[in-house]
Amino acid sequence: MTSKPSGPLLPGATLGVMGGGQLGRMFVHAAQQLGYRTAVLDADEDSPAGTVSHLHVRTGYLDEAGLAQLASVSQAITTEFENVPAAALTRLAQQRPVAPGADAVAIAQDRAQEKAHFTRCGVPCAPHAVIEKPEQLQAVSDDFLPGVLKTSRLGYDGKGQVRVADRAALARAWEELRRVPCVLEKLLPLAAECSVVVARGADGAMVHLPVQRNLHRNGILAVTEVGPGVLPDATARQAIEATRAIAEGVSYVGVLCVEFFLLQDGSLVVNEMAPRPHNSGHWSLDGADVSQFELQVRAMAGLPLTQPRQHSAAVMLNLLGDLWFTGGREQPPAWDRVLELPGAHLHLYGKAQARAGRKMGHLTFTAADLASARDTALRACGLLG
Ligand code: ADP
Ligand code: MG
Repeated sequence: MTSKPSGPLLPGATLGVMGGGQLGRMFVHAAQQLGYRTAVLDADEDSPAGTVSHLHVRTGYLDEAGLAQLASVSQAITTEFENVPAAALTRLAQQRPVAPGADAVAIAQDRAQEKAHFTRCGVPCAPHAVIEKPEQLQAVSDDFLPGVLKTSRLGYDGKGQVRVADRAALARAWEELRRVPCVLEKLLPLAAECSVVVARGADGAMVHLPVQRNLHRNGILAVTEVGPGVLPDATARQAIEATRAIAEGVSYVGVLCVEFFLLQDGSLVVNEMAPRPHNSGHWSLDGADVSQFELQVRAMAGLPLTQPRQHSAAVMLNLLGDLWFTGGREQPPAWDRVLELPGAHLHLYGKAQARAGRKMGHLTFTAADLASARDTALRACGLLG
């Protein structure tokens, strides 16, 4: 953040967002609900956020004319995609408040920097080694094996990572990843995975969503559950405190999600952070009185951040493109059947083309208690095939 507005940006102002994916779309919906105008920068004509925004700047992230246009029409700018080049955010920040700032986004873009930041903040992460040169590969301690070799940059949804059992597999995996800078992490015995979403204002005020329990399939988030008892109380408190420390440590402004591993011995280890709303926080649109997207709007506009209250237990199911291909031909699931279920909230992102592994939407089931929400989610799984 460089230039700071004198007071909050009130509804009627235009809020800009870098990136046009589903996170940008839900940000746009939240901003518009509060009476803001929106501008989205994304090269894709049909981007999920661009198609619902007042303005859509159709250029690449580093296009000077596009950045100049976004900065001239928007009074504040955020990002929905962590791989927006930090240079683009720095450029925008010369003209407008940008939240989160380029420095925080740059840390989240690089696993090695991210882990160094966690350590600085006093939050333990997986034992790891940075591998950028062949000598570092040779020198790796056996303590990190078996492990997971992850590209330092641009990995998402389990892409850009290979599990390695021994040194020979590690050497092969680094070749396979084209010898780009990587981090080798020790493979940890996971009991569960969870995440915490916080929002922090420029004045340092911070609020959080309750801890979210996440289930991944093939490296992609499949299910998130939120409700009392979803994780031990002490673990939940620890995860929230760690997330606050991580946000505080970069004077973060905006919405930040931190993912954790709960190990079989009960200890908590931080995995990674996302400088934006996160898939695991989507349930807050339907299960909390303030969603993570409204928090993003409030934080960037300098509006008060009120502590969200979860009013319903929630189970969120990601809807991947694979569901469009069950039964051997392409057709969308029977939404009318799914919407018969109590507490069903369907969110589709407006993507024309379904593809295996592509996030097409999500379904959140809300209920008075977690057992009921789980029960309905299970019935939905039966209908989705
Ligand atoms: P991405 O950026 O693709 O989300 P993550 O680092 O979060 O990558 O890894 C994706 C998933 O792989 C995690 O959610 C977890 O299930 C598994 N995983 C990653 N690292 C480890 C590890 N060190 N030990 C055990 N499982 C891991
Ligand atoms: Mg992850």
